[in-house]
Amino acid sequence: MNTQKTFSFELFPPKTEKGFDNMRRTVAALNAKNPAFFSCTYGAGGSTQNNTFATVDWLREQDIDTAPHLTCIGNTIDETIAILARYRDQGIHRIVALRGDRPSGTGIGGGDLSYANELVTLIRSEFADHFHIEIAAYPEMHPQARDFLTDIENFCNKARAGADSAITQYFFNVDAYAHFVDQCHQRGVTLPIVPGIMPITNFSNLARFSDACGAEIPRWIRKRLEGFGDDSASIRAFGADVVTELCQKLLDAGSPGLHFYTMNQAGPTLEIWDRLGL
Ligand code: FAD
Repeated sequence: MNTQKTFSFELFPPKTEKGFDNMRRTVAALNAKNPAFFSCTYGAGGSTQNNTFATVDWLREQDIDTAPHLTCIGNTIDETIAILARYRDQGIHRIVALRGDRPSGTGIGGGDLSYANELVTLIRSEFADHFHIEIAAYPEMHPQARDFLTDIENFCNKARAGADSAITQYFFNVDAYAHFVDQCHQRGVTLPIVPGIMPITNFSNLARFSDACGAEIPRWIRKRLEGFGDDSASIRAFGADVVTELCQKLLDAGSPGLHFYTMNQAGPTLEIWDRLGL
C-alpha cells in the first residue's frame, strides 16, 4: 500500500444478523488491503447507536483501527462525552465528528450542540489530543448552506476548531474538489481533505442519495446510466470505469488519499482499488 496517502473504508451498522455476517465478510476482504482505518456511520440522535456500538465493538475485537462517526444533533453534552469516553476506553483514537440531520418524524429535539464545529471544540476541550478528529467537507456545497462562500467559511471555522483532517461528500467532478481545496488554502486552512468515493452499482439508489446530499451526477454519466435500464452488469462495468478514472485523476492531482463509501459491499470497492494498482 502507498504509505504517503490515507486510504479508508466506510461501513454502516447492520441491523440484522444476516447483515452483520455480510459486513464481517466485507471487512475481511477489505482489511487485506491494509487500510488506515474503517469508519462506521451513526444515526443522528442515536437512532443506530446500539448497532454502531456493536459494529465498533466487533471491529475493535479484530484489532482493526476504527473511526466511529459521531453526530451531535439531538444529544446533550453529557451524552456526547459519555460516548466519547466509551470509545477512548476501547482504544479508539479517531472520530468522524458531525452535526447530523434531524430524521423527520423522530421527535429528536435540538440537543446542546447545533453545529459540528461545536462538537470539535467539545472533543478538544474534554479529550485534549487523544482523538484524531475527522470532519465532513462538501466540495459541491452542503445542501442546506446559505451560499457557497458562507459554507466554505463555516468549514474553515470547523477546521480551525481543532480538526486534523476532513473527508468529503462524494462527487464526480474533480474541478469542484480542486476549487474547494484551493478556497480553503486561500483562507490558511491546509488540513488534508480526503475525497469520499462512491462506487456506482445502482442508478436509482445513486440518484436518490445524490438528490438528498447535494452531490451532482454529471449529465453524461446520468444519461449513460439511465440508458442501461435494468442491465446491472453494464451499470457496474461503466461505473467502475468512471470512478476508477475519477480516483486516478484525484491521486494524480495530489489528493491526500481516498475514503470509500463501501455500502458494506467489498466487490465494487475492490475492483476500483485493484484497477488503481494501490
Ligand atoms: P456542519 O459542519 O455543522 O454544517 C451543517 C450546515 O450548517 C452547513 O450548511 C454549514 O454551512 C452550516 N453551518 C456550520 N456551522 C455553522 C454555524 N456556526 N452557524 C451557522 N451555520 C453553520 N450523517 C449522519 O447522520 N451519520 C453519519 O454517520 C454521517 N456520516 C457522514 C460522513 C461524511 C464523510 C459526510 C460528508 C457526511 C456524513 N453525514 C452523516 C451527513 C451529515 O451529518 C450531514 O451532511 C449534515 O447535514 C451536516 O453535518 P456536518 O457535520 O457537515 O455539519
